[in-house]
Amino acid sequence: MSHPEDPTRSPAYFRSQNPSALHANQALARLQQEALLPVPQNYELWFAYYAQTNLEVVQALDTLYTTQQPITDTLCGGLHQRFLSEAKNSETVRETGARIQATITGVSSRVDAARTATHQYKEVLQTAASHFSTPGDSEKIRNTLRTVLDNTSDMLAHNQQLEDALAQSSLVMQALERDLEAVRKQSLTDSLTALSNRKAFDTEIARMSQQAQTDGLGYCMVMMDIDHFKVFNDTYGHQVGDDVLRVVGRTLSQCVRSGDLAARYGGEEFAILLPQTTLPDALKLANALRTTIGGMSLTRRKSGDKLSRITLSGGVAQMAVGESSDSLVARADAALYLAKSRGRNRIEVHAGEH
Ligand code: GH3
Ligand code: MG
Ligand code: MG
Repeated sequence: MSHPEDPTRSPAYFRSQNPSALHANQALARLQQEALLPVPQNYELWFAYYAQTNLEVVQALDTLYTTQQPITDTLCGGLHQRFLSEAKNSETVRETGARIQATITGVSSRVDAARTATHQYKEVLQTAASHFSTPGDSEKIRNTLRTVLDNTSDMLAHNQQLEDALAQSSLVMQALERDLEAVRKQSLTDSLTALSNRKAFDTEIARMSQQAQTDGLGYCMVMMDIDHFKVFNDTYGHQVGDDVLRVVGRTLSQCVRSGDLAARYGGEEFAILLPQTTLPDALKLANALRTTIGGMSLTRRKSGDKLSRITLSGGVAQMAVGESSDSLVARADAALYLAKSRGRNRIEVHAGEH
């Protein structure tokens, strides 16, 4: 883990600072050094690296460094998603599981207590019955009745406690169920655009591909990429770029039907899955999206200054019988690259065989 040529890794660097400030400064210095965007996810990744709070992050970044691979924003985004966002989700799932376990344990100990109380009560009643079946003096009967009454109120108290505990645990369980559902949704959603994320896309394309084998209904996929987005970012700044990604995401989710899936595939790339759709209809949708977004006059949120127009290029392909999802993605990608090479702001169709 020692890289002598990297001054930010030296212990002498920022020596006078407390550990958190030191790691924060190291992380920021490293973002600058690698020409990475100063966005929260890059910062969190490098902070985790310097603070060594996540060994997988340390190993992955060290491997990139030692194999001299370029450290890009996309790569950092991927590592963040893999080791930090998903880790956070699994942490929540683990905590929720522990709370479910504690709730179940609490309820079962109440059930045990109620069972013991019922058992004791049964014995009291049996003893009382035997007392009443034999003639006895009134004092003895009074004592027996008192014992039965005392035990009856104990029994009622136990039952009430059990009822309360069950009502309480049912509320807790409902809240936990909502937590788990929120985590599940979050793990499938891209936090910037609120579209489905890559993981959701991969799961859904695999599901659709399997379904298509059984029901024989075709589906299409569209891959779209913002043109010259690097220049846009360089001109207006990354935050304005992020706003544009949000606008594109919103437009995509408004234009697709409920059974379709619109996902952020990567940085400024979007993928749409269209079940039971013909190639001409998929092309029509892609072009509608392209012209809608291309026709928007965007302004800077703070100043209201006009921004340059955003255009998109796209590739469309229809799944062939027996085709794998990887092959479909590759063909949509190939069509997208054709659109780029033919001048951008256009959609191409991959009509060929896979
Ligand atoms: P092309 O027309 O060939 O697609 O050119 P391009 O500049 O769009 O493509 P390139 O792959 O060279 O650059 C992609 C750019 O997208 C670079 C990166 O800064 C930007 N980008 C990727 N993810 C994000 C993000 O989350 N936010 C912002 N603001 N920009 C992003
Ligand atoms: Mg692009
Ligand atoms: Mg791209």
